[in-house]
Amino acid sequence: MLDVKAVRKDFPILSREVYGKPLVYLDNAATSQKPAQVIQALVDYYESYNSNIHRGVHALSMEATDRYEESRRKFAAFIGAPSTTGVVLVRNTTEAINLVAQTWARRNLGPGDEILTTHMEHHSNLVPWQQVAQERGASLRFIPLTHEQALDLTNLDSLLTPRTKLLTLNHMSNVLGTINPVKELTEAAHRAGARVLIDGAQSVPHLKTDVTDLDCDFLAFSGHKMMGPTGIGVLYVKQEVIEDMDPFLHGGEMVLQVWDDRATWNDLPMRFEAGTPNIADTIALGAAVDYLESLGMDNVREHEVAITEYALNAFRELEESEEVRVYGPRDVTQRGGIVSFYSEAVHPHDLGTMLDREGIAIRTGHHCAMPLMGRLAVPATARASFYVYNTEEEVDLLVAAVRESIRYFSGTRART
Ligand code: PMP
Repeated sequence: MLDVKAVRKDFPILSREVYGKPLVYLDNAATSQKPAQVIQALVDYYESYNSNIHRGVHALSMEATDRYEESRRKFAAFIGAPSTTGVVLVRNTTEAINLVAQTWARRNLGPGDEILTTHMEHHSNLVPWQQVAQERGASLRFIPLTHEQALDLTNLDSLLTPRTKLLTLNHMSNVLGTINPVKELTEAAHRAGARVLIDGAQSVPHLKTDVTDLDCDFLAFSGHKMMGPTGIGVLYVKQEVIEDMDPFLHGGEMVLQVWDDRATWNDLPMRFEAGTPNIADTIALGAAVDYLESLGMDNVREHEVAITEYALNAFRELEESEEVRVYGPRDVTQRGGIVSFYSEAVHPHDLGTMLDREGIAIRTGHHCAMPLMGRLAVPATARASFYVYNTEEEVDLLVAAVRESIRYFSGTRART
């Protein structure tokens, strides 16, 4: 079990106030807060061994190279990758997915081929596939949703056809919190001869993830949602797949030998990391992984299941009076710590602004999932998302402020 009080002390930002109220940070699905250990790793790098990595023969460069590659090993271990060969360091989930679209997909997709995805994807796992499908004459197909916003797998057999070359889906929806059965889906996709990409932006920070067990071909995730800095993310690629992929950024670092008219590529995964990489943030993400490991991912999950259950219960009264609709599966074992909700009485943006005045940070809008908003028939939702430092008291403050905002806006309407 997590000692949440002790955990909170590690996050300096949590002691600040907003408009004179203690900060209640419930926007973790957008980006998480950073513990002092991660901030210190950045300071240490810049204060004591800042230098460029790989090929430098001086002490600072070797130290930085060691720390950078040590982080890569930590990422591999954290996601259960058999080696670092397929651990490509990128800026974020978006870049990781685009890398696969630009390299693997362009080479492997042709006219008539299909990409299967879902109706609950972030734009980052939709738009790159729209682009590559258009370019290659392929098409997109979608797994629909149930009334509880889980995947409706009733017609999976007819959606996965011999033409399906890729199944690409999130492990946890950033809007609904739904956890998708990615292992079973990967098995089914492999049986149909398709490769599988898992968008782990919301899952890797919160759920123990093992790519060897999942057997996925690609996994993408972002450091900034898992206590690391912005600007660093990971693309994991299965060895047999990465060996067959061409780099798409060319220049320094990714080459082995260069002549006037040609070049040969560096070893994997450096072949995919052209130019000076994000050294400081990679090292600091290593510190974030250490921090998460020290908490234990099972404890992280246990805390989030408990707080999500608490939040769903706390919203129940507002749901029963039909003042609020809450999305996603009711069974907390089927979802993560993301609670999206909508009230007819108050536009999500107004709600977000009201809550902000109480020091409560939530996200409002389409959450980069415009097609999903259309399917939910709302312009936007309000979304509270939890992490290890959130407490039941914070959930109470959230629900009380939502209730108050609804009363206020209903009253305003009645008066006009
Ligand atoms: N996929 C999902 C499910 C996400 O939640 C996000 C971030 N909101 C992304 C992809 C994109 O992540 P990033 O902006 O770090 O590239």
